[in-house]
Amino acid sequence: MTPAVGALTVGIDIGGTSIRASVVDESGQILDSVRMPTPNSAWALEDSITRAVNKLASRHTVGAVGLAVAGFVTLDRQIVRFAPHLPWVDAPIGRILSDRVGLPVILEHDANAAAWAEWKFGAAVRGHNIVLVAIGTGIGGALLTDGQLYRGSYGVAPELGHIQVVPNGRGCPCGKHGCWERYCSGTALADTAIELLATEPEESSILMQEAMIDPDTITGRRVATAAADGDPIALAAMDEFAQWLGVGLAMVSDVFDPDLIVIAGGVSSSAQLFLDTAREHYGALITGAAHRTRARIRTAQLGESAGLIGAADLARAALVN
Ligand SMILES: [Zn+2]
Repeated sequence: MTPAVGALTVGIDIGGTSIRASVVDESGQILDSVRMPTPNSAWALEDSITRAVNKLASRHTVGAVGLAVAGFVTLDRQIVRFAPHLPWVDAPIGRILSDRVGLPVILEHDANAAAWAEWKFGAAVRGHNIVLVAIGTGIGGALLTDGQLYRGSYGVAPELGHIQVVPNGRGCPCGKHGCWERYCSGTALADTAIELLATEPEESSILMQEAMIDPDTITGRRVATAAADGDPIALAAMDEFAQWLGVGLAMVSDVFDPDLIVIAGGVSSSAQLFLDTAREHYGALITGAAHRTRARIRTAQLGESAGLIGAADLARAALVN
């Protein structure tokens, strides 16, 4: 079952609405993809993944499968301990899928997989100690040090999004209050804009007019587009977001002292609206800033394919080594 170096592998990303599986070559290029809806039950999910892999394996000679999972994965990368949006709890998914598709299967936390892909093929190629912060509805974090993913002692590091930045702050689905991702995510961008609309109403704001008609239209994405159009409330929300990004990056840097920070996730496409402010706050808050080299902060290059490209490459690397 061990593939030759350079063999094609399959990477899989499980999204909220669809599963995407792709054949990836050793240079990180996607050669073929299939997409199918994400079912709710564990059995149906495993069945859909099996069908996706089999479909790709019927068209290409593939040697292994890597699955990017938004959740806790054991250090042997075979068992999903817990994934808040998936029906798997302490489930030996590596073995289950491997038995069904007849190929070696490894699992990887999705932010780790994305960080690996950016280090091998994207924005982090020349980094040594790298932090990836994937900002979407929440924050996914990953640490890479000299080509090794840092998974911690039990496979769950790092949970950057749930570091508390505001005591007794906004409630978080994790059960705590004041987590970084409640202030620095697409969701947070919308929450901040809604708070500002209530406390500092601004007649000239298009966002304000939209919120009066239907408050549900105020999403992180809408705030970002309104900020790009110069909407004052959206710009203020974006400025708060940028400050919180700087706060969190300074905390992470005080622990990890990275040379490169990569901002990934859906929000990174609006980086021109927040990155300079975030850098300023980062520079002001990092300990001993005048006496140390600050990390470069840049945006990811591989977009939403990073997770599956990384998972496919990690599956290849695990088998070659
Ligand atoms: Zn939390």
